[in-house]
Amino acid sequence: MNELSLFIQAAAHPDECAARIQNQGKKIIGYLCSYTPEEIIHAAGAHPVRLFGTGETILNADRHLQSYCCSLARGVLENAVSGRLDFLDGAVFPHTCDTIQRLSDIWRLNTDFGFFADVVLPVKFDTESARDYLREVLEKFKEELERWLNITITDQSLGRSFEIYNTIRKKLTELYELKSENPELISGRDLAAVVKGTMIMERDSLPDHLGRLIAEIKSGLYTRSDTGKKKRLILSGSICDHPDFYELLEKSGGIVVGDDLCTGERFFEGEIEQTGSPMKAISRRYAERTICPAKHVSERARGEALIKKVKDRNAQGVIFLFVKFCDPHAFDYPYIKEMLEKESIPGIMIEVEDQLPPEGQLKTRFETFIHML
Ligand code: SF4
Ligand code: SF4
Repeated sequence: MNELSLFIQAAAHPDECAARIQNQGKKIIGYLCSYTPEEIIHAAGAHPVRLFGTGETILNADRHLQSYCCSLARGVLENAVSGRLDFLDGAVFPHTCDTIQRLSDIWRLNTDFGFFADVVLPVKFDTESARDYLREVLEKFKEELERWLNITITDQSLGRSFEIYNTIRKKLTELYELKSENPELISGRDLAAVVKGTMIMERDSLPDHLGRLIAEIKSGLYTRSDTGKKKRLILSGSICDHPDFYELLEKSGGIVVGDDLCTGERFFEGEIEQTGSPMKAISRRYAERTICPAKHVSERARGEALIKKVKDRNAQGVIFLFVKFCDPHAFDYPYIKEMLEKESIPGIMIEVEDQLPPEGQLKTRFETFIHML
């Protein structure tokens, strides 16, 4: 079996992958936002698994959440109350968007997975007092895990986790650089599966798997033959759990050469310093990485970061991929679009739910946009 198929399998069947890790004696902790301090969970000897929407019809979740909540929150809750997440031993909810904050209360009252934690992060990261507060919040989360597992999370175990996560993040960055320089080396669909796989697979062995995968990619094992000239695009939004999206885009003449997604580059951007206080080091990474719309560092930070990415990657346009009813991204869209227009960077906005719009409809929109570039 080649390395890529390991990632594809984990991405397609996260429950099976988590169950195997659980059988090794590890507790499985679910999370649905990239502001979850995974490194602390890992240092506690538990295993963090990112949760995604459901591919199933939403029936039970509608008893608890309004139908105008995003499909990610409704889908995760549907899976939880329908028994499809029974492999979890607990879940963590960082305070980010309103939907995740409210989902946290509903989850606490309607599920029984053992461990539950709210990580009440500050909204802004740009002041010393906010970073002090963030450090305290992370410390409290660490203590909650210690109490639940009856262990002590030492600075040594945190340092080891930082090293593993830093290596994983560096290798994912290298993969994205390879894709941007030589888009034909791996398809967008496969690259998305690799990133998703890293949110699910056992972390200790991930650096080795990623290292071997990069060697396979460089050797041309996954090089595609349809290497015709494609328009280089950046994808911006919250999550993208739609492998078909990349395939359809590539069939339409476009190619994703970078993203601003919390299931993409925002998830693995930045390293954690190995010196000084561990909680301070985690806080610093949160403060320094590209901000998501549920957090604040400045009024133009997201637009500036996106424009920089478009230029750095030599991209010709931006596709805003929004989950329907995702208010934080919808609120930011007008000002970011205006900033892009001032730089003559074209953009298109596409809203999706758990399912993509019909293929023909999406392809027509892609082709029209790509033709215009
Ligand atoms: S967009 Fe922001 S708040 Fe929403 S899931 Fe991603 S990191 Fe969390
Ligand atoms: S940021 Fe948007 S997509 Fe993510 S959980 Fe919040 S509302 Fe849903």
